[in-house]
Amino acid sequence: MNQYSHHLFADAGAECHDAGYVIFGVPYDGTTSFRSGARRGPRAIRDLSYNFESYLPECSIDLADVLFTDIGDIDPFCMPEMVVDQVRDTVAEIAAEGRIPVMLGGEHSITTGAVRALSPDCYVVCDAHLDLRDAFRGSPYNHACTARRVYEEGIEEICIIGARSGTREEYAFAEDLCVYSADDVRRDGIRSVIDEIRSRLEGKKVYLSVDADAIDCCLTPGVGTPEPFGLTPEDVRDVIAALAPLAAGFDYVEVCPIDAGQTAAVAARCVRTFITSHWSGSQG
Ligand code: MN
Ligand code: MN
Repeated sequence: MNQYSHHLFADAGAECHDAGYVIFGVPYDGTTSFRSGARRGPRAIRDLSYNFESYLPECSIDLADVLFTDIGDIDPFCMPEMVVDQVRDTVAEIAAEGRIPVMLGGEHSITTGAVRALSPDCYVVCDAHLDLRDAFRGSPYNHACTARRVYEEGIEEICIIGARSGTREEYAFAEDLCVYSADDVRRDGIRSVIDEIRSRLEGKKVYLSVDADAIDCCLTPGVGTPEPFGLTPEDVRDVIAALAPLAAGFDYVEVCPIDAGQTAAVAARCVRTFITSHWSGSQG
């Protein structure tokens, strides 16, 4: 284990009833198909969060001025459909109090629960994988099926950024969706992709999910299903900064801390970017 073991996310000092943002972790990797370990993601992200200054120069905001809290981890059940229910109940409770849920994974299957609780108009995800399988290894709640489950919630406005892996069937299914491959982003630039997505989503309620493997595995290798030729950490940061003001909820999932900490460092920094970007967007 890491020698720096912090129980809660850095600067998450607000009392629960004051907090505009509620961080929680879901240490679950029960359906992981390749390399397990994402259950240790929440802890690794919290540990790395202590590395950063509370001041974020890119938006001139000090996180010490933003009220957010960390309620710790869900104690997940074994079966993914039960974990999805646990997440749904937790997110529903947070949202009912008018707060924004910020979920640390854990594998991607948990996102289905957050989407069920929030019923957004659109689902925006950074991911190397389409996650559009109807079922995988006997379960419709496998982490390879998340975007498909989201679609079946009636959310047809789905944007997948950074995609570069899926079956022929998944790619056929994705033809009705808005998919920007990692190569599209490299060719057109993340700014033009963000502008297109923003114009589609203006005024809509968005759920924003980041699967850590959207980023090139040569940059952040601490993931369960590594894929090369991916996005950069800056691409993902820019998506989060631009779309956070539209988001009713956020997660950063699939951090599997088997590297030197770079994947969790990017995740922790992106969580900070989400909170400050959402907060500054809500200040008018
Ligand atoms: Mn995924
Ligand atoms: Mn993925």
